[in-house]
Amino acid sequence: MEAVRKASWHENVDFIEPREATPDEVELVHDPKYVDAIRRLCEAGGEFLPTMECSVGPESYPAALRAAGAGLTLADAILRPPPTPPCNSRGGKRWSIGFAPTRPPGHHAVHDRPMGFCMFNNIAILARYLLTRHNLTRIGILDFDVHHGNGTEAAFWRDPRVLFCSLHRDNFYPYNRGRRADRGEGDGEGFTLNVPLPAGSGDDDYLKAIDRYAIPAFEDFDPQMVLVSAGFDTHWNDPLGGMRVTGAGYASIAERVLKIASGSAEGRIITLLEGGYSLSGLAEGVTSYLGRLLEG
Ligand SMILES: [Zn+2]
Repeated sequence: MEAVRKASWHENVDFIEPREATPDEVELVHDPKYVDAIRRLCEAGGEFLPTMECSVGPESYPAALRAAGAGLTLADAILRPPPTPPCNSRGGKRWSIGFAPTRPPGHHAVHDRPMGFCMFNNIAILARYLLTRHNLTRIGILDFDVHHGNGTEAAFWRDPRVLFCSLHRDNFYPYNRGRRADRGEGDGEGFTLNVPLPAGSGDDDYLKAIDRYAIPAFEDFDPQMVLVSAGFDTHWNDPLGGMRVTGAGYASIAERVLKIASGSAEGRIITLLEGGYSLSGLAEGVTSYLGRLLEG
């Protein structure tokens, strides 16, 4: 947030407070018993969860609800009905780009258990919310976190309304997921696109993979809204990721995201933060990516 406030474009940005997601909204993706178990566990003082690589405490449950609610807040802001009369813009400011610096992140969390540092799958909840509450029918999700977005993939494995594309480090956490051959099943076959990349991949490798695989798939699909799971653990100085993406690389990724959103999405893009474990890398990544998105 410090880096965002120092960025040249920050005065053109509106900061809005996220609301908490309701348990019903979280249950668009998660088992009600799991949601309640997480609440009780946190309220009881928390502990280290067996399938989660970190501990939780009393504040973790409201923090997770707010992280899930941040995307919903942005969705409502971007998709609210146009002001009337349409030509009078007073009080009718329109947004098309939203970013939520969510913590905890979400893309590993599955239906009935936490994983990684994730409790609730923020981006999957947002996609289901767009499908059910805003009646969209085609959502595109690009996940460029260094880790495979297994929870998001699982949520939409059989769902042709969501095209999920993940670029991630090959043979890395959460191991044996995100193989090229994993393409969805049933009606959802062909709507999951996994692009594993070798350790040490940098800007050119990412941009080539996006141009070769992601852009044609998203162009065919023509999403009405583009969601991005943005993990900056691909930054060259991240202590966990082992990749070599630079600030310039994230800006170029943002250009591709704008291109993906240039059809039916009419430029509507919501980006949620996933990983990123070097504070300086995270700051450079977020400001480079967001700065280019806002330039349009
Ligand atoms: Zn990650």
